[in-house]
Amino acid sequence: MSKALHELTIHEALTGMRQGDFSAVDLTQALLERIALLDGQVKAYLTVTAELALEQAAQADARRAAGGEAPLLGVPLAIKDVLCTAGVRTTCGSRILENFVPPYTASAVQRLADAGMVMLGKTNTDEFAMGSSTENSGYFTTHNPWDLDRVPGGSSGGSGAAVAAQEALAALGTDTGGSVRLPASYCGIVGLKPSYGRVSRYGLVAYGSSLDQVGVLAKDVRDSALVLSAMAGHDAYDSTSMPAPVPDFTAALTGDVRGLRIGLPDEYFIAGVQPDVEAAVRRAIDVLGEMGAEIVRVSLPNTDKALPVYYLVATAEASANLSRFDGVRYGYSAGADSIQENYRQSRGQGFGAEVKRRIMLGTYALSAGYYDAYYLKAQQVRTLIKQDFEAAFEKVDVIACPVAPTTAFRIGEKADNPLEMYLSDVFTITLNLAGMCGISVPCGFDGAGLPIGLQLMGPHLGEEVVLRTAHAYEQATHWHTQWAQPAVTEV
Ligand code: GLN
Repeated sequence: MSKALHELTIHEALTGMRQGDFSAVDLTQALLERIALLDGQVKAYLTVTAELALEQAAQADARRAAGGEAPLLGVPLAIKDVLCTAGVRTTCGSRILENFVPPYTASAVQRLADAGMVMLGKTNTDEFAMGSSTENSGYFTTHNPWDLDRVPGGSSGGSGAAVAAQEALAALGTDTGGSVRLPASYCGIVGLKPSYGRVSRYGLVAYGSSLDQVGVLAKDVRDSALVLSAMAGHDAYDSTSMPAPVPDFTAALTGDVRGLRIGLPDEYFIAGVQPDVEAAVRRAIDVLGEMGAEIVRVSLPNTDKALPVYYLVATAEASANLSRFDGVRYGYSAGADSIQENYRQSRGQGFGAEVKRRIMLGTYALSAGYYDAYYLKAQQVRTLIKQDFEAAFEKVDVIACPVAPTTAFRIGEKADNPLEMYLSDVFTITLNLAGMCGISVPCGFDGAGLPIGLQLMGPHLGEEVVLRTAHAYEQATHWHTQWAQPAVTEV
């Protein structure tokens, strides 16, 4: 049975367009129709740029007709609304940037545009990417396409839901502590977090600058490799981007894991993990073993300190980064008479509760007298966490574990309990602290039919081995061929 256009992967869509089976305009129209049909209920998008998308699609068709080709020519994608897009509103999910239209485009987005992307719109996010459910968005909560009463994960929940509901072929997200991998896991798709420095952060509105990384939410591993190949690489505008050469990541997808050593970290198979999740992840690891990988026990002994370390480092960096939103230069201004009062009111009214909580925590951790006890100590323990990974990657090529302790929770279930919300990230934040790369790949469903993600972690700039392992697993299983069927009620 042939697929509808919105059901295609990127690589299938490129083949179809290159063969002349359909045009980029046909494909874009199909996705815009899908958005019109479903997004009233899924609420993945903050802004849909329909007119612009059709214009870009027509340009892609013209370029192809003239004999031009490009790696993503005519491919409709969605972009998380923390990445600046020239001329298109960029809110970061915050009321403080409700009317902010950037004068420039983030490098990662620009590279996709140069590779021929059609941009469908900007996706919902927890405010300034702080959260695990999109419930911290200043606008609305996104719904999980597998069960509309549940969260899609966060903070890139709009991107996760857009791909899972087949309202985009893939989407960009950002991952500071798990925000690409968690929504991918909760939404049953693939989420790739590249190594720190692999993709330029220029034009990504900063949250935790030493942790932030742009990633990909996609329908399969090949698509995530295609998008990463198009956007990775050194950028003169971001001094933290690596000068390392960018391989064609799709060349790593050999389908073969024979001889690879896969580590199982003791500290990630602990009490508190939902039994269905643990069982699915263990089964996935058995599959990799049957395919010829060697499974080895490893230890990451400082894992239990990762959550407090993360919430000191991330909040400290956030408190500094968010000081630029002062009611003067960007976005919302309360228009009060005195400068002090204007700061107070603009920030007081523009920021939501979670963002204020983080700014206060971070300011406290950086303040005189507390810096050594909190921020400096956290940085020292962060080094130990990184060393744990370095030691483990001397013994193994890849580390396998769950993405999160549970499947998608109900909307509202954790909204009043920030600590419980923070625990959703216990298995993902370690990788950001270590600056390494990882992927979430679908590995089953729980008893309620909700997707489960397998996390595969790799060393710094180890994307190829992570993608190779994920792809081999994916091709040996059928999880990535199953799609949410969100009920459509006519309005
Ligand atoms: N949930 C984590 C936080 O709130 C991670 C968010 C992210 O990766 N952007 O900080």
